[in-house]
Amino acid sequence: MISALLPNYARADLAFERGEGAWLWTVDGRRFLDFGSGIATASIGHGHPHLAKAIAEQAAKVMHVSNLYRIPQAEKLAQRLVDMTFADSVFFCNSGAEANEGMIKMMRRAMSDAGKPERFRLICFEGAFHGRTLATLAATGNPHYLEGFGPVVEGFDHVPFNNMNAVRDKIGPNTAGIIVEPIQGEGGVRPADMQFLRDLRAVCDEYGIILGMDEVQSGMGRTGKLFAHEWAGITPDVMSAAKGIGGGFPLGAVLAKEQFAKALVPGTHGTTYGGNPLACAAGNAVLDIISAPGFIEDVERKGRKLGAELDKVAKEFPTLFDNARGMGLLRGIKCVVPVGQVQAACVAEGLMAITAGENTLRLAPPLVVTDSDIDQAMVMLRAAAGKVAATVAKAAAQ
Ligand SMILES: *Cc1c(COP(=O)(O)O)cnc(C)c1O
Repeated sequence: MISALLPNYARADLAFERGEGAWLWTVDGRRFLDFGSGIATASIGHGHPHLAKAIAEQAAKVMHVSNLYRIPQAEKLAQRLVDMTFADSVFFCNSGAEANEGMIKMMRRAMSDAGKPERFRLICFEGAFHGRTLATLAATGNPHYLEGFGPVVEGFDHVPFNNMNAVRDKIGPNTAGIIVEPIQGEGGVRPADMQFLRDLRAVCDEYGIILGMDEVQSGMGRTGKLFAHEWAGITPDVMSAAKGIGGGFPLGAVLAKEQFAKALVPGTHGTTYGGNPLACAAGNAVLDIISAPGFIEDVERKGRKLGAELDKVAKEFPTLFDNARGMGLLRGIKCVVPVGQVQAACVAEGLMAITAGENTLRLAPPLVVTDSDIDQAMVMLRAAAGKVAATVAKAAAQ
C-alpha cells in the first residue's frame, strides 16, 4: 500500500529533531555535520536565534494578509535588495520554480510590450536546472524529468553550456533572451566561465534580447558574493532567487531592471502567499546576517579554504575522484565510482553531503559554517573515502 506521505522521493532513513549552525541531531540523538544545508537553503544554519525570533515575533502579530494590501515587510526587503543589486524592483513568491516562472513570464511579456510578441523563445543550457513546474521543466530540458508529462511547454532552446558559438547560432527572430545559472548546481556544480557570462551580456546587448540569470542556488552569498554574476563584473536584466533567501522559510524572488519589471502590471501575474509578512520577516532576518560587515567576505575565505581542501582530497583518492570544482561554499567533487557509494560512506562518518549531476558529490554547507566545521568535515570525508577506496581496491584484486 502507498505510504500516506507520497513516495516521490528516495529518502534516507534519517529524521532530524533539532539543529545548531552546521550541525543536526536525529530524533534518536545522533549528530551529523550538515554540508547539504537542505539543498543550499539553510543559509544561516540551523536554529539561528535571529531568524527564529523574527519568525516567531512576526507569526504572533500577523502572518498573512494577501497582496491585496500593502506589506511593509515586503517593501522593506525589496528596497534592501534593490539597494544591494542591479535591480530596480522585486517580485516575491514562494519557491525557485515559481521565481523562474515569474522571470520567464516577465521576459516574454517585456518583449511583447516592446512590440515584438514573436520574440518569446528562451535559450537555456544543457545541464541546467530551473525547477519542476511545466514551464521550468521545459527550461530545464532534461528528458528524464519531462517523460510522461505530456506536451513540453513550447519556446525553450538548449545549447551546450559555456559554448558561445552555440549560443550565437541559436539566436533567431523568435529569441526573447537567455537564461543561465552562473554555476550549474543540480547539473554537477559546474561554474560558467566568467568570460562566457560577459559574452552572454554582450550578445544580449548586441541583439536587444534579455539576459536572465537563475541565481536560485548560487545567490544570497553562496559563492562569496551576494550574487554569483558579480564575479563576472556584469549585471543581468532579470534574475531569480530563492533557496538561501529565506534561510529555510519558503521564499522566492524575481529581481529586475525597471524596463523589464514594468511589464508585469496589475493582473498579469500574481501569487496568494508570495511575499507575505511572515516570509518577508524571515527574508529580512536572513539579509541582516548576510549583509553584516565582513560576512560575505568570510564566506569567500571559507569557500577558498574548502575548495583547497577538496582539491587535496580529490588528489589523495584518484581511484574515487576526478576533480574538485565550484565557487565559494558551493563545491563538488566529480566521482569515478558511483557517487551514491561515496555519499553513503560520508553519512556513515556523520557527514551529510548531497549529490549533483555528472556523478558529483556536492558540498554546500550553511554560510555560517566555521573553520573547525570544515576541518571536521574533511576528516570525515577522508575517512569515508578511505573506506570506499579500500572496497574498490579489494574488488579490483578479486
Ligand atoms: C533548486 C533550484 C530551482 C528550483 O527551486 P525550487 O524551490 O525547488 O522550486 C531552480 N533553479 C535552480 C538553479 C535551483 O538550484
